[in-house]
Amino acid sequence: MITVESEQAKKYLKAGEILGKLQKKARKDAVSGKKLLDIALNVEKGVKEVSAGKAELAFPVNLSLNEAAAHYTPSQGDETVLKDKDLLKVDIGVHVDGFIADASFSVNPSNDWAGLIEASELALENALSMAKPGVEIGKIGAEIEKTIKSKGFNPIQNLTGHGLAQYETHAAPSIANIANNDDRVLEEGFAYAFEPFATNGEGFVRESAQSEIFAIDEPKQVRNRYARQVLAFVLEKYKTLPFAERWIWENIKMNEFQRKIALRELLKAKCIKTFPVLREQAGRVVSQAENTILLFDGKATRLVK
Ligand code: MN
Ligand code: MN
Repeated sequence: MITVESEQAKKYLKAGEILGKLQKKARKDAVSGKKLLDIALNVEKGVKEVSAGKAELAFPVNLSLNEAAAHYTPSQGDETVLKDKDLLKVDIGVHVDGFIADASFSVNPSNDWAGLIEASELALENALSMAKPGVEIGKIGAEIEKTIKSKGFNPIQNLTGHGLAQYETHAAPSIANIANNDDRVLEEGFAYAFEPFATNGEGFVRESAQSEIFAIDEPKQVRNRYARQVLAFVLEKYKTLPFAERWIWENIKMNEFQRKIALRELLKAKCIKTFPVLREQAGRVVSQAENTILLFDGKATRLVK
């Protein structure tokens, strides 16, 4: 149980404070003409500077464009550039000793999608303002759905907010972005991320064939030496947290052939799992807003202020 004076609470709050600073930097960075890879690298550099090594990213910064709702992060040598009319979701996670703050914002340099961005931001704001211990999770979803629809858009029905636990980016319960009969309640002493997604499409995402983000699934013995080397590195460095393929090759020197074998063997043995890029099924544009709250003293405190 987390109380206001507990070490865990301090770590959650610290993670949120650092994340707030990274968001400010990323907002300045997310301008037309900028490479997504440079935005990601600056977040990665930023977390080291801002936290003086006390915090780390909880997952690769998600820089999903337009109809991609989540799980895109630039690969090595990625030349993708943010264009004027793009809608970019910047989703960052920071942890201090495994206690995670998870938050995102959307940007669109040309402002064509200002209304769509406002819909997810307002839904988040409304959901956060009703959050406190004892509030039913189904009612939060209802508020998010109502807000997004009142702006003329659809919530993404198969993406949800979630609980957070130490070294767990997605813990129970899931918090739907639509009304449902979930009568579980928000509980004192726990952390939750609310993350409404709004779209001018149908409101469902599908997994695409592309995967840039991975996590340990069930580590076990593998025969291939390259696979073993990669597995040992990610187990030690990221534990159960998601990582980018790029992060491996920034740390382990392997040629193209060895890299392919290593990843293929680890996936085949189900030592690691993938998080495929999620795209809106009608190919329409998606916005996202997210913050994490920690419940203590009978109320919800936002980790990113
Ligand atoms: Mn997130
Ligand atoms: Mn989240």
